[in-house]
Amino acid sequence: MYPPDFSYVRVTTVEEATKFLESHDDARPIAGGQSLIPMLKLRVISPSYIVDLNPINTLSYISSSYSSTRIGALTRYYEILKSDLVKINVPLLYQAVKVVGDMQVRNLGTIGGSTANADPSADIPTVLTALNADIILTSSSGSRSVKALDFFKGAFTTDIKKGEIISEIVLPNLEGYRTFYKKVVRRAGDFALVSLAFAIKLRGNEIEDIRLAYGGVGDKPFRALEVEKNVIGRRLNNELVEEIVSKVSNQVNPPSDTRGSSWYRREVMKIITRNTLKEVMG
Ligand SMILES: Cc1cc2nc3c(=O)[nH]c(=O)nc-3n(C[C@H](O)[C@H](O)[C@H](O)COP(=O)(O)OP(=O)(O)OC[C@H]3O[C@@H](n4cnc5c(N)ncnc54)[C@H](O)[C@@H]3O)c2cc1C
Repeated sequence: MYPPDFSYVRVTTVEEATKFLESHDDARPIAGGQSLIPMLKLRVISPSYIVDLNPINTLSYISSSYSSTRIGALTRYYEILKSDLVKINVPLLYQAVKVVGDMQVRNLGTIGGSTANADPSADIPTVLTALNADIILTSSSGSRSVKALDFFKGAFTTDIKKGEIISEIVLPNLEGYRTFYKKVVRRAGDFALVSLAFAIKLRGNEIEDIRLAYGGVGDKPFRALEVEKNVIGRRLNNELVEEIVSKVSNQVNPPSDTRGSSWYRREVMKIITRNTLKEVMG
């Protein structure tokens, strides 16, 4: 199917992009186009202007300090996979990006595009929720930072305001954590039926910190904050594993759709949680 007619706007700076978006109600930015083009072709959206962010070369970078890793919004998945900084400092992101779509999607798709798109089954939003990353939004009047837990509002709905673009994602470095990204799909290259972005820090076999964020079980990524809080300082053993599995799965009401029923998603959630915790126990 062909997309509807639109005017193409090429911008080379963030200022140009935000000014245009601010003064045109009917304009959408495009990054990798891996979600936007299908939405245009399916006529889910029909904006009058498409603002191409790709020529803005200041939005593509990865840098790390002692405590965090900053990634420009236009950084593509394949660039994240090539980065030793990401592999060492934010292994959870590396593990998730490895299983996004297929090679073509990873060659074009961007971290900012996936974050802005806020698909409840996508991989990046689940990782950002696990790490409560900072999402930097820039408009012509400056930048503001929003925590992932406040940024994702619902299916395809975020805190981005008119005239703003995502300029950067800031992720905390994970010193001393073990991380796992588990994704169950119906076919290779698919969006997640259910996914788990998991990080744990142990002192002996006592839990010092734990992050449990799930994709595909609601209208936005689900972070099991209450369960996390209740297990800090406790010994990781079979009994605690079953307690965590039961509590996290009771806190969600997964959707039913063509990919799987609510019941099935909950069962998958239990299995990947149990298996991951057992893997940590060795
Ligand atoms: C075949 C296929 C398989 C896929 N499989 C997966 C998968 O397994 N897991 C997964 O997570 N994703 C998957 N995707 C989606 C993919 O990750 C997309 O790349 C991603 O959702 C959007 O990134 P993009 O850079 O292509 O953004 P675009 O498609 O260009 O834009 C997406 C949305 O974000 C907005 N936008 C883009 N950049 C910005 C910005 N900087 N600031 C504000 N708004 C912005 C656009 O206006 C649009 O609304 C798949 C896509 C395809 C086509």
